[in-house]
Amino acid sequence: GGNAPYTAPAQTVGGFLDSTAPTAPSAAVRPTYPRGVAWCDLRDCLPPFVADALVEALPALDRKLHGFASPEAVMTAVEARSSSPVRVERDGGFQSNIAGLYPCGEGAGYAGGIMSAAVDGLRVAEAIVSECEVIPS
Ligand SMILES: Cc1cc2nc3c(=O)[nH]c(=O)nc-3n(C[C@H](O)[C@H](O)[C@H](O)COP(=O)(O)OP(=O)(O)OC[C@H]3O[C@@H](n4cnc5c(N)ncnc54)[C@H](O)[C@@H]3O)c2cc1C
Repeated sequence: GGNAPYTAPAQTVGGFLDSTAPTAPSAAVRPTYPRGVAWCDLRDCLPPFVADALVEALPALDRKLHGFASPEAVMTAVEARSSSPVRVERDGGFQSNIAGLYPCGEGAGYAGGIMSAAVDGLRVAEAIVSECEVIPS
């Protein structure tokens, strides 16, 4: 997106919620995206059902977290991610069909977020530790 390589499309919440509002960015909140932003109408980047849901959700959340829908807040688009659609099979000891290889976390298909990746890592680490031979001192 954007009008220069790798800039991100951005819009103030005020401009997004009220399409008649000026699109010029407010000086109050400066975007921190390192490659810079290109100000635009984010409706050009989002499918209507996503844009409509955001128009409904931002003021609703603002009633609980005041400032969330501040007109000067900056929305930067578009974050898109998905978890691995495939899963590397592992046995009861968490190993793959390659002995000593322990697939875990998101890329292997066992997690879809920070917590599930962390917990899966712990389970695999425990399995590895339980297999370690105790060397008498
Ligand atoms: C933009 C974005 C936003 C997200 N927001 C959230 C959120 O708000 N909440 C949430 O719960 N989750 C969020 N997630 C998902 C979450 O970040 C991941 O699910 C989680 O980090 C996966 O952890 P992981 O340890 O399985 O994989 P990773 O964190 O990807 O770790 C894999 C590691 O392996 C290293 N690696 C890769 N190949 C090799 C190699 N050949 N040799 C050595 N090292 C290698 C990589 O450098 C990396 O450090 C977000 C993800 C993205 C991309």
